[in-house]
Amino acid sequence: MIIKETLEKSTLPVMEAFYTLQGEGSHSGRAAYFIRLGGCDVGCVWCDVKDSWDADAHPKVSLAKIIADAAENPARLAVITGGEPLMYNLDELTAGLKAEGFETNIETSGAHPLTGQWDWICFSPKKFKEPLPELYKKAHELKIIVFNKSDFKFAEKFAELVNPECKLYLQTEWDKQKEMLPLIIDYIKANPKWRISVQTHKHLNIP
Ligand code: SF4
Repeated sequence: MIIKETLEKSTLPVMEAFYTLQGEGSHSGRAAYFIRLGGCDVGCVWCDVKDSWDADAHPKVSLAKIIADAAENPARLAVITGGEPLMYNLDELTAGLKAEGFETNIETSGAHPLTGQWDWICFSPKKFKEPLPELYKKAHELKIIVFNKSDFKFAEKFAELVNPECKLYLQTEWDKQKEMLPLIIDYIKANPKWRISVQTHKHLNIP
């Protein structure tokens, strides 16, 4: 049972939180409340949210407020992203969201220990910081960002490690899409266990 007082006292650095449609992966197209936590030590050279890296640059918000803000929206799907959200223990946040009836999804590089109760784990390992093996069998979705050709080899390495039921996605890094999209399409046609993940929110011009 979560104690109200704990939710009032515990805080997390929130870079932004917004209600939109999930643009990527298996839950693409669904209305969702995104909670982007500040702080990341992975250091992807192509990161498109570098402002998230410094946790201290973002306000510490009580879990009670994060959850109350989420609950103001009609959808009951919360997506916790970052930054790298697993830099924090997310047990209390997810317990609080679940108590409000939310499905809880996370997007993580897997570089930190898994905490929290999750309905869906999108595991997106990065070359810049080795993921922890505990994520391999728990991930529901493996999402590899393709920045250059060597990422196909990287993708196959993790496809071998995850659960056989885990959905496998390739997604181009946004600024490289002209170059990489045709390669991804050809790759999936030749290796049909993979699916394409398109950042539909960017095409729709929504957050
Ligand atoms: S893990 Fe995500 S937030 Fe962190 S550097 Fe890589 S792309 Fe950016």
